[in-house]
Amino acid sequence: MKIAIYPGSFDPVTLGHLNIIKRAAGCFDKLIVCVMVNSAKQGLFTPEERVELLRRCTGRFPCVEVDFSEGLLADYARRRGAKVVVKGLRAVSDYEQEVQMAVINRKLNPDLETMFLASSDKYTYLSSTIVKEMARYGADLGEFVPREIVEDINRKMREQQERKGN
Ligand code: ADP
Repeated sequence: MKIAIYPGSFDPVTLGHLNIIKRAAGCFDKLIVCVMVNSAKQGLFTPEERVELLRRCTGRFPCVEVDFSEGLLADYARRRGAKVVVKGLRAVSDYEQEVQMAVINRKLNPDLETMFLASSDKYTYLSSTIVKEMARYGADLGEFVPREIVEDINRKMREQQERKGN
């Protein structure tokens, strides 16, 4: 069974992520979308919430599983029997860091290959950071994230702004 992992922050999942998920899902028997928890970075959504949003958006892909991990990706992959890490590349700016991560991951786990999928051209500009910036100013998120999570993002942003205002 060919198992791959697609790791990221997914804070929140965007149409760019979903495009990579859809394309990678067609290449493997199982694709584990893994929310990697970075305790140094406080996100908009908690890891549990990100998992829930991802599950809602990927439910129609039978080979996709959503999980989260606080440890090293190389260890997680070994534990899950995955031999491939999938990454999306938007622009040259992604390249340097992603190649560095790929080399480190292979040092830590020599069985682990990283495969890069080029972003679809209509999503090359899209990141979770952009989505949060748009939400902060009340822009329509319909073009950036799956419809089923638009209201969750707007609600969360309102809650954050209210907390900061207090
Ligand atoms: P971001 O917060 O920048 O959106 P993540 O850490 O959640 O990034 O991204 C996880 C993975 O998905 C990374 O490999 C990243 O390069 C990729 N990715 C993010 N957005 C896109 C996009 N619009 N198109 C293709 N790949 C993407």
